[in-house]
Amino acid sequence: MVLRLVFLGPPGAGKGTIAQRLCEAHKLLQISTGELLREETGRGTELGNKVKAIMESGQYVEDEIVAELVENKLKELGEEKGFILDGFPRTIKQAGILEGILNKLGLKLNGAFDIEASDETIIERLSGRRSCGKCGKIYHLKNIPPKEEGKCDKCSSVLVQRNDDKPEVIKTRLETYREKTAPLVKYYEEKGLLKVIDANGKVNENIQNVETILGVIE
Ligand SMILES: [Zn+2]
Repeated sequence: MVLRLVFLGPPGAGKGTIAQRLCEAHKLLQISTGELLREETGRGTELGNKVKAIMESGQYVEDEIVAELVENKLKELGEEKGFILDGFPRTIKQAGILEGILNKLGLKLNGAFDIEASDETIIERLSGRRSCGKCGKIYHLKNIPPKEEGKCDKCSSVLVQRNDDKPEVIKTRLETYREKTAPLVKYYEEKGLLKVIDANGKVNENIQNVETILGVIE
């Protein structure tokens, strides 16, 4: 069975890390809109510069831009390769757009996983998060430290703190999340796709929680 999953949950609940580990274990592609957007900003195109300014202000990028990037990626994957969408959709409108893209490509979702953690847990995690400036691999100073301090295990590039992991931006992100994304939980529940995952524990425990659910789906 080809797994096609959507990951929901507030920033800092650890969905990026969990998705990364599951993708390695199940040979899926992790499609993070954050990464798709950073890829575009990294190219220094006009679109990339516009995206950069929006991200730095803590706002979300327009649906049309994200949808285009997501559609191109899914087209590339075709029917054989599974994926985890991490960070898209964020709103009911985007969920509709995603459904349109999937229908067009003849693909179907197997589940929407709501990765949940408390505000306390989230704040502790985000303040320690670092990612590789080159390959995007995610670390945490305490929970997932790199082998060598400040350097990526995979490509030896310098680890950086993303601008949107800084406290003043986190606040905006959490508020925006609650306002716009929370109704998605209901949307996927009504479609019978929702699975709520307790992600307050250590990474391995959280992954085990997901694997248990996957065992039922597969
Ligand atoms: Zn790297």
